[in-house]
Amino acid sequence: MSSYPTSEGRKLLLALIETVDSNGAYLSEIDGATGDGDHGINMTKGVRRTKEKLGEQNVTVPQGLDMLGQVLLAEIGGAMGPLYGSFFIDMGTACGDAPAVDKEVFGKMLKAGAAAMQDLGGAKVGDKTMMDALVPAAEEYEKAVSEGASFSEALDRMTDAAEKGKEATRGMIAKLGRASRLGERSRGILDAGATSCSLILKTFSDTFQSAKGS
Ligand code: ADP
Ligand code: MG
Repeated sequence: MSSYPTSEGRKLLLALIETVDSNGAYLSEIDGATGDGDHGINMTKGVRRTKEKLGEQNVTVPQGLDMLGQVLLAEIGGAMGPLYGSFFIDMGTACGDAPAVDKEVFGKMLKAGAAAMQDLGGAKVGDKTMMDALVPAAEEYEKAVSEGASFSEALDRMTDAAEKGKEATRGMIAKLGRASRLGERSRGILDAGATSCSLILKTFSDTFQSAKGS
């Protein structure tokens, strides 16, 4: 596998929807420990709306990411709607009209998604947010590509970095969002957004790596 055909957007979108939907209760449980327990509810509502909108349509990768992003941005509340909305929309835009998502194209997509979330949310690594999974994942991916790794290896390194970043949120005190009201008491608990972000990045990786042929 060295690339994923852009024509296979439906498969990617359904995989992202399934990941969020099947982890909804878990994500809300984590959010409940430091926030208001709605992260999974917000996310699940967003992906279910997207699934309805998608219906039987076939979409390309950028069309699918844009559809998901627009629903999250326009219809989902909380911190997560606009943040993940912009993340997916800008990833789709960065994919542009490339015929396939290869390691260079995905590098651009990841960078654009991370920049969108950064611009809008203003969170830094260490603030106990989704950026704690996303930033190290994007950096590790870029590093892997610059070291000559294959698309597959770069995706594996990205996924590992996201997972490590997510785990590191346990030791952090929340600086932003509702969880920040807990101060020191937010330590010892995973961040919900970092957890969903790690799951989402893994879904990109698994879906791309399931592509057959070149
Ligand atoms: P809300 O906080 O409004 O209830 P959610 O529960 O859907 O929204 O999302 C909470 C998650 O949002 C947190 O776990 C955190 O990862 C993320 N988050 C909060 N504020 C920011 C921010 N400024 N930048 C990035 N992520 C953020
Ligand atoms: Mg919440």
